[in-house]
Amino acid sequence: MLYKSTRSQAAATHSAAQIIKQGLAEDGGLFVPQEIPALTMAEIEALCQESYPVRAAKILAKFLSDYTYEELLADCEAAYNESSFVGGAAPLVNLCDNKEILELWHGPTAAFKDMALQIMPRLLSRALTKTGEKRTALILVATSGDTGKAALEGYKDIDRIKIMVFYPVDGVSRVQKLQMATQTGSNVNVCAIDGNFDDAQTGVKVIFGDEKMAQKLNENGYFFSSANSINWGRLAPQIVYYVSAYCDLLSADKCRAGDPFNVCVPTGNFGNIFAAYIAKLMGLPINKLICASNANNILTDFLRTGTYDRNRDFYLTMSPSMDILISSNLERLLYFTAGSEKTADYMKQLNTTGAYSVDAEVFAKITENFVGYFADEKTTADTIHACFEKHGYLCDTHTAVAISAAEQYIKETGDTIPMVIDSTASPYKFANNVYRAVTAQEPESDLAALDALSKATETEIPYPLAGLAQRKVRFEKVVSKENMAAAVLEYLNIE
Ligand SMILES: *Cc1c(COP(=O)(O)O)cnc(C)c1O
Repeated sequence: MLYKSTRSQAAATHSAAQIIKQGLAEDGGLFVPQEIPALTMAEIEALCQESYPVRAAKILAKFLSDYTYEELLADCEAAYNESSFVGGAAPLVNLCDNKEILELWHGPTAAFKDMALQIMPRLLSRALTKTGEKRTALILVATSGDTGKAALEGYKDIDRIKIMVFYPVDGVSRVQKLQMATQTGSNVNVCAIDGNFDDAQTGVKVIFGDEKMAQKLNENGYFFSSANSINWGRLAPQIVYYVSAYCDLLSADKCRAGDPFNVCVPTGNFGNIFAAYIAKLMGLPINKLICASNANNILTDFLRTGTYDRNRDFYLTMSPSMDILISSNLERLLYFTAGSEKTADYMKQLNTTGAYSVDAEVFAKITENFVGYFADEKTTADTIHACFEKHGYLCDTHTAVAISAAEQYIKETGDTIPMVIDSTASPYKFANNVYRAVTAQEPESDLAALDALSKATETEIPYPLAGLAQRKVRFEKVVSKENMAAAVLEYLNIE
């Protein structure tokens, strides 16, 4: 299987190992496989008998043909084992009627980024060997909280890779700060910067583009790499849990082999829902893909009008991982529905004017598969409250947006086939807002909200967030934004 850029009309030339190491295509496009491998119903039925790591290895083998099945299985078993994913990697839990919640947050940071970030570093480590790379990769991350922690947990103690995370000293919550400052692992470093998230992000970009830094690193056996969410190595593992969910529906007799189901995904960068679309193209009988947005409903508008327009207000919401105006992975959907020439043109328009409109033919193809709904802040809070009251199910803010979207879709269409709703974070990850929504009371602090939520709902704090205040703080350094490069060199012991 070879890969090409979404913006190029040339034939595919890159191996999976190459694109996982490289991340972004030379022309600024995203890498896509040259063709979509088929998944037959017989294969799906056979997967019903298998564990999650085996399901994952078998699906990944179809895309990463330059990795052996044994390599993939070893990596999947290491990534999705019972001690890091307590209660299973992607369990399906009935909410009510035909609504099933696909819980993607049982991993080491209690959020769905773990599904990709627990496996992708292992794939990258092997890619270095496969491509003849002799140097050690240094992953640099600027984070506003959650991604940095998920990356640290993913890359920790992985061979041939080091990771350094920068976060704004006053721009993350106390819980997020503690999670990063107490990070374990021999190849990790965390540094706060005296500035905001933009300063951290700009600082990392400047370091990435600094030739002298690159040369210094090279002389010392290192090179820069990024943990970017548009890397195919982060996307491919997300295809797996849609297949796995269908296996679980079959095993529980919720449908028969070949029967269709719907999926509803709380969407930000469009990676998760795009993985579901790939699963559908492979042959998984997904009927509709319901794209759920918060008050930043640029995707809802796009799916209703065919116009993507980022010239609009930006809101900070209680579902911050979906606060986004550029959904990068949408480019991959455009490629599969409009082809590379139109995609390159749309992306050019987006860069110059901040907007583009797809033509009628492309719009028809997209809306055949996708529908969009959104939930504002009040609807999100009301949904958390109602889910707990009516069904005894405690959900986080992102999941609540998806549950609301699924309910709106069902009400509007009367479509009652099984509905798989992605749950992308533990309610404890956003304990503050969840506690407020459930109890209508104000928590004392975000750290206190963990215990308060546990008491109020008689549910357990998941292991990644339990006992945070008692853990040993390893990283306390704060540097000015001008000194980020120096901090990198100091970490690597380079003069
Ligand atoms: C990243 C994230 C999302 C959005 O996923 P995309 O793949 O970017 O669409 C939703 N919920 C949570 C909790 C996330 O961390």
